[in-house]
Amino acid sequence: MKHRVHVTVLLFVMIVLILPAETVFASFVQEGTITPDSEQVKNIIYMIPDGYSASYATNYRIYKGEEEPIWDPHLVGMVKTHSADSWVTDSAAAGTALATGTKTSNGTIGMSTEGEELESILQAAGKQKKGTGIVVTTRLTHATPAAFVASVPLRIDEAKIAPQMIGQVDVLLGGGKKMFVPEAEGGMQNSRHLLNEAEDAGYALIETKEELQNVNSAKVLGLFSEGALAPELDRQGTQEPSLAEMTEAALHTLKQNPNGFFLMVEGSQIDWAGHDNDAAWAMKDIEAFEEAVSVAFDFAEKDGNTLVVVVGDHDTGGLSVGAYGQYKAKPDMLKQVKATGKFIASQVNKRRTNLADVMKTYTGFELTKKELKQIKKADHLTNAINQVISRRALIGWTTPVHTGTDIPIYAFGPCSDRLHGLLDNTDIPLILADVMDLEWEKAS
Ligand SMILES: [Zn+2]
Repeated sequence: MKHRVHVTVLLFVMIVLILPAETVFASFVQEGTITPDSEQVKNIIYMIPDGYSASYATNYRIYKGEEEPIWDPHLVGMVKTHSADSWVTDSAAAGTALATGTKTSNGTIGMSTEGEELESILQAAGKQKKGTGIVVTTRLTHATPAAFVASVPLRIDEAKIAPQMIGQVDVLLGGGKKMFVPEAEGGMQNSRHLLNEAEDAGYALIETKEELQNVNSAKVLGLFSEGALAPELDRQGTQEPSLAEMTEAALHTLKQNPNGFFLMVEGSQIDWAGHDNDAAWAMKDIEAFEEAVSVAFDFAEKDGNTLVVVVGDHDTGGLSVGAYGQYKAKPDMLKQVKATGKFIASQVNKRRTNLADVMKTYTGFELTKKELKQIKKADHLTNAINQVISRRALIGWTTPVHTGTDIPIYAFGPCSDRLHGLLDNTDIPLILADVMDLEWEKAS
């Protein structure tokens, strides 16, 4: 018996001596005994196109034309989105799942169905002295960004969400200034002045694109609008930065942290376009989101230690590729639409006598008699305009809210192979925490 042990040990020593070190090392790795450094990343950029599903992906590919969308070669799987209490999630429960790895009820931010407060992956990264950032085109206190920092039973309590953001996140860029200002100054806070509090806490406060480009501070609070930022189609003429410009500025600041960073970037208004069944707004905001993803991919490529994940939180609108009984799809015609349905409606006079002219100006096409009649007699002008435009693009919509369809997920950079197959939305932050080697109660 003793003799046999000796022979085994001898054989092992011989194998180690004969085989190249890499081969022996690899056999240990396969068995999971050693985790090489290449299995970890320093930085994560978590990019969420709110409301974007597979049918948005297909329509956008056709809309874009020759060059494929930047994320197409990096598709790694699909994601289930249901919440704890419904097959059709809202953005609060979906954001909570993507941020904390726990399913909760629709309407709830950062809390379990039992009412316990949940720590998010961003908060865990902050505790580990990593830089943290949130970049959105909605109010910073809106459901998706809120889920990464706040815990409130009701998503509509945005005035309660705002104070939870200051101090917890190094870089905050987006809209919703009124949520940070006291009522006496036209804001939504009872008495607190969160902008003053932020300044005292060392944040640089900025409000314009120019200030964003010149900012030089480790902590930044950029509020570029009282409410949400303008839809990309209507942004010209404002002082607001694009999502890509905000992403670039956030990365410029966060990369200075020697411990790495966690940045969440939301293409917030793809969802709002979906709620309005506004196909042109949806495509244009996906384009703006793609520019931000391009900034993130460039950064990750140069850095070599950054993982970029692109995943929507749910589908909005249940749109289709092709519709109305035709074997055709024409989302590319939406490129000629120069404003959102909401904006176009605002340009139509009360008696709707200038309808044909306004539509020609902003959509590039002449209304047929039937379309003109349909819009003129409609109760809801914006909806009617959006319906006519979607019909021209052969895009169908099935609902003004969300649907429960699965969502594509894309990953770029080291460890991107860790996200693959059919995932649940709650799996994603756990995998990200693992590849970033975060000490996170949820992940352990
Ligand atoms: Zn929504």
